[in-house]
Amino acid sequence: MFNVVVPIKQVPDVTELRLDPVTHALIREGVPSILNPYDRYAMEAALRVKESFGGKITAITMGPLQAKKALQECLALGADEAVILSDRAFAAADTWATAYTLSVYIRNIPFDFIFTGLKAIDGETGQVGPQLAEFLGIPHITYARKIDIDPDKKKVTVERQLENGYDVWEAPYPILITVAREFGEPRAPTLQGYVRAKKTPIKVVSATDLERMGGNPKFFGLKGSPTFIPKVHPPPARPPGTIWEGDPKEAVSKLVQALLEKGLI
Ligand SMILES: Cc1cc2nc3c(=O)[nH]c(=O)nc-3n(C[C@H](O)[C@H](O)[C@H](O)COP(=O)(O)OP(=O)(O)OC[C@H]3O[C@@H](n4cnc5c(N)ncnc54)[C@H](O)[C@@H]3O)c2cc1C
Repeated sequence: MFNVVVPIKQVPDVTELRLDPVTHALIREGVPSILNPYDRYAMEAALRVKESFGGKITAITMGPLQAKKALQECLALGADEAVILSDRAFAAADTWATAYTLSVYIRNIPFDFIFTGLKAIDGETGQVGPQLAEFLGIPHITYARKIDIDPDKKKVTVERQLENGYDVWEAPYPILITVAREFGEPRAPTLQGYVRAKKTPIKVVSATDLERMGGNPKFFGLKGSPTFIPKVHPPPARPPGTIWEGDPKEAVSKLVQALLEKGLI
């Protein structure tokens, strides 16, 4: 039996995303929100562990109360419990403050495995998972495409997806693992799951609750965020390419000449 925690993020549908030109923060108002697609793979990993060994899955998020909808999706998929850390004090957190805040709650519950998505489709840093592991003082492995648990040796063997293959890592648990798309197609929620989700209450945790659990409010939200965004700008436009038209032989020799002149060949 394992206790598995799955931190998930509700994200704006990126096709509708805009930036505030003054604060450089994402404008979330009026933008439809969805469960971060990468977190479905983390949920899938958790569900497979539960199917193989039994146990409990806790889905957790830090965000505004509207993020309960993403947690409901996790409950419909098969999570047993859902927790939202929600308070004005957590607003405008960077990845460091987000990971810290999550760590305060998670440190206070039993866990063997923490599965996160590879990255969020809006922030896209991929930092929250590894930072969370650091705050909890546990190992982490990223980009998992296969996870084998050996309960006798209390260790896990993980295949990590690389660009041109994979490597194999072993580690003891408790551990945090970020799950790659190559892990396998995540399942869809069932109708029964949605009915169960509607009946399962979602636990709301405030900043005061986290303080009682040992959290330091200095590290919550904006004031706990060491990141500063001085400027957001689109990447510079690429200069136009050169096309040599006409006879292919001539065009190729012109191309070779141009490359020679630039010292590229
Ligand atoms: C100065 C500054 C101010 C910011 N202000 C805001 C703000 O006001 N509102 C806001 O929403 N964002 C804000 N952000 C962005 C915020 O820091 C990130 O959205 C957040 O920390 C997650 O980072 P990410 O999106 O890169 O996630 P990644 O690190 O790419 O996510 C990886 C995985 O971590 C987990 N995860 C990520 N975020 C959460 C979460 N919140 N709860 C549970 N699990 C999670 C998921 O499993 C996810 O797949 C701000 C960032 C900065 C730098």
